[in-house]
Amino acid sequence: MFKKLVARISELFAPGMDISYSRVNTYEFCPVKYRTVYCDKKYVPATPAISLGQTIHKTLEQYHQRKETTLDQLIESYDVCWVNEGFTSPQQTLEFYEKGRKMLERYFASSFASVVEIVSLEKHFVCKLGRHKLMGIIDRIDKYPDGTYAVIDYKTHSELWDQAKVDADLQLSVYAIAFQAVFGFMPRELVYYFLAHDVKLFTKRTPEQLAAAKERVIGVARKIIHKEFAPNTANCHRCDFKKSCQFSIV
Ligand code: SF4
Repeated sequence: MFKKLVARISELFAPGMDISYSRVNTYEFCPVKYRTVYCDKKYVPATPAISLGQTIHKTLEQYHQRKETTLDQLIESYDVCWVNEGFTSPQQTLEFYEKGRKMLERYFASSFASVVEIVSLEKHFVCKLGRHKLMGIIDRIDKYPDGTYAVIDYKTHSELWDQAKVDADLQLSVYAIAFQAVFGFMPRELVYYFLAHDVKLFTKRTPEQLAAAKERVIGVARKIIHKEFAPNTANCHRCDFKKSCQFSIV
């Protein structure tokens, strides 16, 4: 009883931390990976997919920031923003370059390239979440003619998610929490734009879903503060550190 009371009191006075969706996602993937990346500062090596993702995000930011309107301008930005890291051969570089170029051509042809009003691009946010600071970057926020808003995240990977996965996704819940904290109201919709497929999936969040997401983020922050870093070896086969990690089973 006394021990429980002490634990509760120390919980109440424990310090907060900077937390983000990326941190939660990495911790849930494997606490050892979290410690490796965020405590030991060993960064994930560049891969073609990561570099292409960075390139596309930078390109779209630059294109819209400059209020450009032609496909040539979009491809010019692509060339300027190209991140040339993690490729193992000129052939692979070319293959990914073409993949990215096709994504942008499809993007240009879609309505998202000429939307009514883009309110912000790569918006950094910081808001309070319990005693923690919730931070992150929202790719894009659009305003519709009726005064409502959409929060948009670009996905460049080749996997196309289904609606159920998008509806339950934590990242968009975190963005909805941040949007509400910053703007004082909820966005009309949350959007994942899967650029490799030219597919947009729209979703919303209920107050109950947001409350559950907050609890989940706070729960992970609590474990990090308490230095709970047990390995999750179920993910070793797809981990960037599988060759160097002492707990790796592959
Ligand atoms: S190799 Fe396995 S145990 Fe090590 S960080 Fe990756 S997932 Fe965790």
